[in-house]
Amino acid sequence: MTNESSEKTGIKKAIAVMSGKGGVGKSTITGWIAVELNKRGFKVGILDGDITGPSIPKLFGVGAKKPYQSEEGLFPVETATGIKIMSLNLLIDSEDSPVIWRGPLLANTVKQFYTDVVWGDLDYLLVDLPPGTGDVPLTVMQSFPVDGMVIVSSPQDLVHMIVKKSVNMVKKLDLPILGVIENMSYLECPGCKKLINVFGASDIEEVTKGIGVDLLGKLPIDPEMAELCDEGRLEVYGAINGSMKDIVDRIEGKLGGER
Ligand code: ADP
Repeated sequence: MTNESSEKTGIKKAIAVMSGKGGVGKSTITGWIAVELNKRGFKVGILDGDITGPSIPKLFGVGAKKPYQSEEGLFPVETATGIKIMSLNLLIDSEDSPVIWRGPLLANTVKQFYTDVVWGDLDYLLVDLPPGTGDVPLTVMQSFPVDGMVIVSSPQDLVHMIVKKSVNMVKKLDLPILGVIENMSYLECPGCKKLINVFGASDIEEVTKGIGVDLLGKLPIDPEMAELCDEGRLEVYGAINGSMKDIVDRIEGKLGGER
């Protein structure tokens, strides 16, 4: 990023994570990418732009921490391993309070999370976008410089139609697409190790090829992981790392980060 605001903020690369619909694991994957990059020695932050359903603080168990406000601006909270996080959930009194705001206010808040938060020097800022291809994700995407978009999907026909819609939206905005991650792609039987296609056989290879974007990888359904995320322990989770490492290798390769 070479524009004015990135020079001011000291953020080297911003990766935005989007999905055509909610519940496909966009926030979880944003968290995983951040954890993996952090393990590799990069300075990482997460901007929780999924402002009406902000779940990033919960995944990292930092929901009770409060951002520090000084004359310089608002300081993000830090996770156990030093990942910086800013989320609306950290600013409201109760995690359970619904955010009943209209689009422009939502988008403006996310914009401020980029410009008014003291991120310091970051190698990577991950942005968890609101789901869908509506007005809010659109404005959010246009609110700050994005170096690469990651699109998360799950293996259902309808979702694939939505993936195409998301890709078309990103292409129209002229933003670089890093690729698609298929989450909840299969389930490995804990007994016989057979791979079960819970949502039917995946055709994500053909879908991504057909629309000219890369498939960054496929991730399994992992019941243990879901439980740990609910407990705010995403950072300590290791089992899914094999697939995640390959995905982050590909992202790093495309963005060419230096440690
Ligand atoms: P989104 O951000 O797309 O709405 P979340 O990341 O909040 O989705 O995930 C929705 C739910 O699915 C969460 O409870 C999360 O723990 C669970 N989940 C996400 N990915 C997986 C996975 N690969 N295996 C099992 N559960 C998952």
